[in-house]
Amino acid sequence: MSEFDAIVVGAGPAGSSSAIKMASGGLNVLLVERGDPPGSKNVSGGILWGKDLSSIIPDWEKSAPLERYVERKVTSFLTHDSEIAIDFKTKKFQQDKTGYSVLRTRLDGYLARKAQQAGAMLVTGVTVDSLAMKDGKVVGVINEGETITSDVVILAEGPNPRVAISAGLREKPNDKTVAVGVKQVYKLPENVINDRFNLRGNAGFAGEYVISFLPNNVFAGGFLYTNKDTISVGVVINLETLRKDGKTHSFDIMEQFVQHPYIAPFLEGGQLQEYSAHFVYEGGYESLPKPYGNGYMMVGDTAGFSFSNGMILQGMNYAISSGILAGESAIEAKKDNDFSEVSLSRYWKKLEVSPAILDKKNFRGINSVVWSGLVHRTIPALLETSLQNMLYETGAPKKHLSQILLKSMSSTGVSSKDMMIQGYRLMRRM
Ligand SMILES: Cc1cc2nc3c(=O)[nH]c(=O)nc-3n(C[C@H](O)[C@H](O)[C@H](O)COP(=O)(O)OP(=O)(O)OC[C@H]3O[C@@H](n4cnc5c(N)ncnc54)[C@H](O)[C@@H]3O)c2cc1C
Repeated sequence: MSEFDAIVVGAGPAGSSSAIKMASGGLNVLLVERGDPPGSKNVSGGILWGKDLSSIIPDWEKSAPLERYVERKVTSFLTHDSEIAIDFKTKKFQQDKTGYSVLRTRLDGYLARKAQQAGAMLVTGVTVDSLAMKDGKVVGVINEGETITSDVVILAEGPNPRVAISAGLREKPNDKTVAVGVKQVYKLPENVINDRFNLRGNAGFAGEYVISFLPNNVFAGGFLYTNKDTISVGVVINLETLRKDGKTHSFDIMEQFVQHPYIAPFLEGGQLQEYSAHFVYEGGYESLPKPYGNGYMMVGDTAGFSFSNGMILQGMNYAISSGILAGESAIEAKKDNDFSEVSLSRYWKKLEVSPAILDKKNFRGINSVVWSGLVHRTIPALLETSLQNMLYETGAPKKHLSQILLKSMSSTGVSSKDMMIQGYRLMRRM
């Protein structure tokens, strides 16, 4: 007989959500986290689209350490000289608050406590080294040579899942499946943040940027989110182009971003509180591993469930929803007393009809478009020259929009036919 019904490796949003679900369903759960406290090893830009939490923590919007709700969302191209932005505010953001900025040390601590309150045993500061196997089945975890047994192991290690990789359950991350994220947190008085972003109360600003000003062919995106009295700011860098360039360091890109004339004023006078870096899972549908087998399930980033399309970067929501679905599957498997691969395939059936898989499926190939010269160079250049021609008064006779566009297109060196083909590809994938 096993010591636990379930062992969860990692108390990020995926692992803790799974532990809450299973412990609330009467399972005897051990949640193991290498960070002490939970969240101390984690990095997120930090917008939580948390509606899935309602099923395991009905009052999460009142009890969770949420910083500000997203009231204003800006999607922007940053060139060397200009910012071309869509600044979206809607009463809907105010009425149905769905996105909140969060700080991971606080959020992860809260979720892990909720798992404890539901009855899970939480162990922090302990790294699981490997999986314990018997007759081709996962039967527990190993830490410093000691085996702890369970009927099922939930692997929730994040985007670089060493335990899953060493057991041969999934491939190592590579330049196509992960990007590198660098993040800083700046402290500023709450009223200064409100003034700078034109916010009131606990309303917040979420900005995502296509970085088009790098003097080389490295592709990167940026983000800036307001918390109560801090600002989270960071970059996500495509590893293929970073490696090809070979000369640029990720921290140089971060510096250039925070010093950009349209970013720096937001941070002026702020005290740097945190500087961290982390992988961001970026792999598409084809890169997904089989997320279950004899005695185990994979959730969150470990299973490849995050999504970015250049305008949004989401992972915590899929981590939470997949964690809950795995938890649900474990509860059902316990009723049948069957944790075999066939029994746990019920997890895949649930995933297949959930956004975690559907978004990956529907946006196949999105990365080749998001990380492309079209998005990072051509479109920003085209928009910039067109808007300069339209909005910058020189006293010369005015031109029609079509003339301006054709002139701008020729200055980017892309033919109108090529532009239409690439634009069509972009629209189809986005
Ligand atoms: C810079 C950046 C910005 C992002 N911005 C956003 C955003 O705004 N919104 C959004 O939704 N998502 C965002 N993401 C993605 C999001 O952070 C992830 O998708 C999400 O954290 C995945 O959750 P997880 O629980 O699967 O993994 P993680 O959050 O990585 O948690 C894994 C946990 O497992 C622990 N662990 C790992 N190995 C072991 C082991 N062997 N033993 C014990 N414990 C272990 C780790 O310490 C960690 O606590 C961002 C990511 C980055 C890097």
